[in-house]
This record gives sequence, structure tokens and C-alpha cells, in this order.
Amino acid sequence: MKLSATDAQVQAVVNEIRARGLTEHVSRGSELVIIGAMGDEDLLDASRFEILPGVERVTRIMKQYKIVSRDTHPAGSVISVRGIPLGGKQIQVIAGPCSVETQPQMADAAAMVAAAGCRMMRGGAFKPRTSPYAFQGLGVQGLDYLQTAARAHNLPVVTELMDVRMLDTFMEYDVDVIQIGARNMQNFDLLKEVGRVNKPIILKRGLSATINEWLMAAEYIAAGGNHNIIFCERGIRTFETAYRNVLDVTAIPVLKRETHLPVIVDPSHAGGKAWMVSALAQAAVAAGADGLLVEMHPNPPEAWCDADQALSAEQLTSLMATLRAIASALGREL
Ligand code: PEP
Ligand code: MN
Repeated sequence: MKLSATDAQVQAVVNEIRARGLTEHVSRGSELVIIGAMGDEDLLDASRFEILPGVERVTRIMKQYKIVSRDTHPAGSVISVRGIPLGGKQIQVIAGPCSVETQPQMADAAAMVAAAGCRMMRGGAFKPRTSPYAFQGLGVQGLDYLQTAARAHNLPVVTELMDVRMLDTFMEYDVDVIQIGARNMQNFDLLKEVGRVNKPIILKRGLSATINEWLMAAEYIAAGGNHNIIFCERGIRTFETAYRNVLDVTAIPVLKRETHLPVIVDPSHAGGKAWMVSALAQAAVAAGADGLLVEMHPNPPEAWCDADQALSAEQLTSLMATLRAIASALGREL
């Protein structure tokens, strides 16, 4: 309350708290009065208190995200993707092309991803492109190519869902992990729908999303019942134009502290160039990431999408060796 608050104003705040079924705790210092409200704080609207006479400031003590908060699960969650653990001691590298192009391209990519020692495969069938004239992905045909290629090497697949109308198709094709792309991080209807299915979700960080917005987006999914959520930092927009996005390495320890859910990093869309991927991937693992989402292509210069940032099979294999050394220095494994 303000220094000048009267007893009647304090009582009015107390009455407002009680009217919502919560209890108050009034602490009277020599100068200031602080009123605590105890109970389900969702029943309180801070803005209603801010306008009451005598009120100085309203502060939420509890976090708005509950299910995803580490408070509810201090040990950290390990999410199983067809038996492959994400979030534990083992670091997972999910690699594959930006987009699914052809059956041979996917067959080659899957063989290379498996040979490099990665345990999961990515590939976009529905692509969020800046230009409506750019290749939009093969659609359902792409899901088929991705699954056929990956299953031959027993690699679970990760692919992006852009439209709720495709969710049933994703379930039919038994997509192992559904990716929500950066541009859809706050597509709340999409988040609610994937909250109802039992598939793990990779939630990418929005281009300009704060950590709190990102956690709240995950809470949307969790609130629907699906707690298998993996955060993916993929770089954010800043004033810098020298590279595609700025990889927010700081977000990794911050998220690991705030949430019990696994945190992975996409170094490919962060840097936007193949030559940067290795440095960014190493930094991510060193900073505590539980995994990586990396773009590769059997023949990078020929990639239909994001050719500049695709690793070759050789580059992916040598990156894996370096990451293995970093993981082992951290008491983790790859
Ligand atoms: C992707 O991973 O294919 C992609 C489009 O990434 P983002 O949503 O992070 O831009
Ligand atoms: Mn891409």
C-alpha cells in the first residue's frame, strides 16, 4: 500500500481478497503495509487491485506457468521418444533435411543420419516459407517419404505441424514428435490441439518471444494434458544483421532452471550458414542443452530449401565426434 494509505483503504483491499475466496495476510511495518493474498491466485485479477485507492503496487509471487515449472518437478523430466530418452544424461541429435524432397534424397539422408550416430531424424513436409512462391513442402507425400526412409534405420521422426486440420493425418502417419515452428509459437488454437494428443511436442521459440511468453506457450500445451514438451531455442531477432538470427545461449541455463522439461537447440536456423553450425552446436551442448536439431542434406548445394545452412554427411559426422568429447567432459553422453 502507499505510505499515505488509510486503514479504510487497507480494509477495502482485504475485503476484495476475501470476496474472491482467498485469505489475506496483513503485515504492518513502521511505515508500509503489505497485504498478502493466499489461495488460488488465478481468481485474482491484479488490475482490479491496482485501481483501488491507496494501492502502490501489485506483485504476483507465484509463476503463471505451473505445469511446466521446475517447482512442480524439481528432478527434471525425461521424455521417451519411442524408447529414446530426451532430457536425461544422453544428449540427442536430431538431424535431417530442412524439407523432404524426394524418396532417394530421404533414403540417403536417413542412412547418413544413422551412420553419423544420430538417433532421430527431422524433415519438413509442411514448410513455413516467407514467400508464397517458394517451395511449400510436399505435404502428405512428404510424411510418407520421411517415415519410410527413417523407419528403415529405426529413427523416430520429427516434423512440423502448421495447421490443426492436419493433426489427424500426423496421427495416421504416426509422426513420433510434432514440431511447432517459431512462427506458430503463439498460435494458441494449435497449441491447445497438440495439448490433446499423446505425442511429444517440440516447441520452437518465436522469432521475438520472451522466455516468459515461451514458457506460457508451453503451458497452453501442458494445460490440455500433454506434458511431453521439448523447448527448442532457434535464435531470436535482434538489431544484428550479420547472421540469420542470434542464438540465445543464455536462454539454455535460464530455461533449465525455470522448467523441468528438456531444452534443445537448433544451431542451423540460428546461424543460417553451414560453417557456423558446428560452433553454435558446441556452445549449446557446453551450455547444457539436452539435444540439437540440425539440418543436413545428402548434397547441400542442391537442397530445395535452406541450402546455405545444411551440413554434409561428413560435416555431421565430424560434428558428432566433437560433441561427444564435450558431452563426456560434462559427464553426459551422446
Ligand atoms: C524448421 O525447423 O524447419 C523451421 C522452419 O524452423 P523455425 O520454425 O525455427 O524457423
Ligand atoms: Mn530450414
